Amino acid sequence: MSNIHIVYSDEFEKNDYENSPAAMKGRLSGIIELLKTQSDYSFVQPPNIDDAEILNVHLPEYVKKIKSNDNLFQIAKLSVASAVKASDLAMEGLPAFSCARPPGHHASRGDSWGYCYFCNVAIALKRLRKQGRINSAFVLDFDAHTGDGTIDCLSDWKEVKILNPMADDSQKYLKVIDEYVETLSDIDIVAVSAGFDSYLLDVGKKLSTFDFYVIGRKMKDLAKKMAKGRRFAALEGGYYLPDLPKNVLAFCDGFKNS
Ligand SMILES: [Zn+2]
Repeated sequence: MSNIHIVYSDEFEKNDYENSPAAMKGRLSGIIELLKTQSDYSFVQPPNIDDAEILNVHLPEYVKKIKSNDNLFQIAKLSVASAVKASDLAMEGLPAFSCARPPGHHASRGDSWGYCYFCNVAIALKRLRKQGRINSAFVLDFDAHTGDGTIDCLSDWKEVKILNPMADDSQKYLKVIDEYVETLSDIDIVAVSAGFDSYLLDVGKKLSTFDFYVIGRKMKDLAKKMAKGRRFAALEGGYYLPDLPKNVLAFCDGFKNS
C-alpha cells in the first residue's frame, strides 16, 4: 500500500548544473536511499511539462535568461515538473513530496538568488488555478530563510495565504504554526516549502528531527480538515547531509496517510 508518493528523477543527481550547497553530490540520493527502505512509499518520475507553465509565473525576459544556459534550464524545468506532479497527485488525494533540485522559493517573477531559478511551488499552484481546479491555497514555508520568491510570485493571488514562521525556539515556532492555522478558512490545497536548513545542526539551528515529523502531521491534519486531504511538499534548503535523509523521512512520516 502506498501512503505517500515521492517524485524524483536520477537526473537531479546526474546534472552538474552548478557548484552550490543545493547541488551537492549525494544530497538527494542519500534521501532517496533511505525513503526506498519504507514499504509504504511509492516513487514516481516527473512528467514533461510545457514552458507555458513557467511563463505563467515568471517574466519572459527572465525565462529567456535562464534558457541561455540549457543545462541549467533543463534541470530547473525538471524541478518545476516534479512539483507539478506532486500537486497533481495531491489533487487526487494522494500526499506527495517532490524530492528535487534546484529549490525554488527564492525565485521571484523576474529574478532569483539562493540556488533557486524557478518558483516550483508557485508554478504548480498557479497551474492548478489556471485549470480551474483550485481557487485558494495555504503555503507553509519552514525553510530557515523566508521564501521571498514564493511571496512575490503569489502576491497577485489574494486567496493564497503564506506562512514563514519566525520564532526564537522550536516550541514557539510550532505555536506560531498552530495559531496561524487557526485563522485559516476556505483552503483548497496545502502546499509546503520544505526547507530542512531550519534543523538544529544546519544554518537555522532550530528544529529537531521530531519537529519535522510534527510539522508534517500538522499539515496533514489541516489538509484533511479543510482541503479534502490535498497536500504536497517540495524540497527547498537542507545542507547538513548526515541527518538530511532522516529529517525528510520524519516530515514525510507525519505528512503521509496512515
Ligand atoms: Zn534556506
